[in-house]
Amino acid sequence: MVDLTGKNTRFRDYFSGLFRSDVTDIAANLKRIRARIRECEARNGRAPGSVSLLPVSKGQPPEKIEQAYRLGIRDLGESYLKEAQDKMALAQNRNWRCDWHFIGPLQSNKTRGIAAIFHWVQSVERAKIALRLDDQRPADLPPLNVCVQVNLSGEPGKSGVSLDEAEDLCREIESLPRLRLRGLMAIPARIADERVQREAFRTLAGEFHRLRKSFPGMDTLSMGMSADFEAAIAEGATMIRLGEVLFGKRPQ
Ligand SMILES: *Cc1c(COP(=O)(O)O)cnc(C)c1O
Repeated sequence: MVDLTGKNTRFRDYFSGLFRSDVTDIAANLKRIRARIRECEARNGRAPGSVSLLPVSKGQPPEKIEQAYRLGIRDLGESYLKEAQDKMALAQNRNWRCDWHFIGPLQSNKTRGIAAIFHWVQSVERAKIALRLDDQRPADLPPLNVCVQVNLSGEPGKSGVSLDEAEDLCREIESLPRLRLRGLMAIPARIADERVQREAFRTLAGEFHRLRKSFPGMDTLSMGMSADFEAAIAEGATMIRLGEVLFGKRPQ
């Protein structure tokens, strides 16, 4: 008989490798990520715990959300309304309490559904969308937490307002009673050179600190993903959004 728990490490490793080969070890990933966040906070003079983690479950199967929930994850990021509705139905069935963040492209015909079930919308980039979310937020729910998405590269086709337009949109959101302006979000182009990558994050952080003087309720600088979150933390991110580094590769 093979002792899977015993001293025969060669067999034990072989078997556990077999079982684990196609299963992401979310617990181990989470532990590693938290250590990297702590280390990065310390290295950059950031207060311990000043960076929060938003696990991004878009494209991932419900089993992985279940594992994450068991590990204490209580915030999740999703990019597609239909997929999020299915996952939230499951979560409700199991009596899970999570805060769901919408981080995907926003179309007018999706705002009603989004306003009804999400706690945060991080990808607001037009006054028209903000007005609809405000109008459609159900009266029995607290105001919807909102971030303005900024397009740092200035590339046309990419989501987000330009840096110049961010203040006007913030002012619009601030005037809407059913929305709560929380901060800025960006997805800067991925750049291999870390120095250049950090410049984009620094630019957004500068704008964030400038805007906070006019909008003191802003407390969230959401920037940094699997490939660049350490650069984002170094430049002042308060929330990093991690998908694949935590949950494994998204199925196509
Ligand atoms: C998919 C996505 C993420 C997570 O990306 P990873 O590279 O998997 O970490 C973060 N933010 C937004 C807006 C996304 O769409």
